[in-house]
Amino acid sequence: MSAESALPLLTLPTAAATDAAAPRLLILYTGGTVGMAINRQQQLVPMHFSQLGRRMPELRKLPYHLELLALPQPIDSSNVTPADWLRLARLISEHYANFNGFVILHGTDTMAYSAAALSFLLEHLGKPVVFTGAQVPVGRTRSDATRNLLTALEIAAARHPRAHTVRLPEVGVFFNDVLIRGTRAKKVESQQFAAFKSENYPPLVRAGISLDFNDKNIRLLPAARLRVHQNLEEKVAVLRLFPGITEAVVGAVLGVPGLRGCVLETYGSGNAPTAPWFLSCLEKAYARGVYVLNVSQCEEGRVVQGRYETSAGLASLGVIGGDDITTEAAITKLMFVLGLGLNETETRQLLSQNLRGEITL
Ligand code: ASP
Repeated sequence: MSAESALPLLTLPTAAATDAAAPRLLILYTGGTVGMAINRQQQLVPMHFSQLGRRMPELRKLPYHLELLALPQPIDSSNVTPADWLRLARLISEHYANFNGFVILHGTDTMAYSAAALSFLLEHLGKPVVFTGAQVPVGRTRSDATRNLLTALEIAAARHPRAHTVRLPEVGVFFNDVLIRGTRAKKVESQQFAAFKSENYPPLVRAGISLDFNDKNIRLLPAARLRVHQNLEEKVAVLRLFPGITEAVVGAVLGVPGLRGCVLETYGSGNAPTAPWFLSCLEKAYARGVYVLNVSQCEEGRVVQGRYETSAGLASLGVIGGDDITTEAAITKLMFVLGLGLNETETRQLLSQNLRGEITL
């Protein structure tokens, strides 16, 4: 038995108790503000959350079977690592057959990275995996925790009204009445309740009086068996350009020993300096086999290498255009694709290709 399947599931009593046909949902609690409390130093720290049912009595009214799996060590999501993503993917895999949908309670700081990582790791996903959390901990006045969780559960349980097929076979981030594709989410706000934005893609669900599913934008792929990947390459970096960036900085990042991939955050539609020292740094990285993915610093629009003279030379230095991908999706895509251990042609092909709705080609 793996460490994962040894983690106990806690049944939360609900209105579905005697309804064998009611949807079965698994809530995975990882930590984050949603379950935090104030310590003696007046700082917010994660707490154990087995009391979810008591803290959110509204859950009892739900017409679903609910089980809770709390990670033994809840964390502030600033401490999330690729090992945590692999663990979440394993947990979903182990419980996949027994549940209709999954809701992951997670800190907001890195939720967009985790949602993108899980999107890549869970290939041929056929059930909803909805990340949610809160800006104000559960139990506090004006907390958004209960509202976010209740709606995330409703989305995870949803079926097409007539066909009764899965409505959302995707990883998503639900926050403040909007469900965003996991590979399109970005945290844009640390004070207000609307913490996330859907970049370059419409939200998949809007929650008002009823749930409004944007079915035409939801990825419906031919049915296939879930494939859970268990490898992520960690020797990657993000390099954000700024006017005045020096050769020492660019050279140091691209020259990290063993580096395999780097997200290069460029200007506008993928533009970068044409200074010989800069191009030479890229050339050396290319020669060492480092994959560089060009991602725009702009929130909207896309990378089009060659539109300007300032991006025309990048492709010949091996730089791969990231199209309209977010940095969060780009870095996790690099980890995922490089973790597959493919040859250069296949790696470049996958990095340029749309894998999980992260780019609009
Ligand atoms: N620092 C917290 C976390 O990401 C913030 C939050 O959950 O809103 O875990």
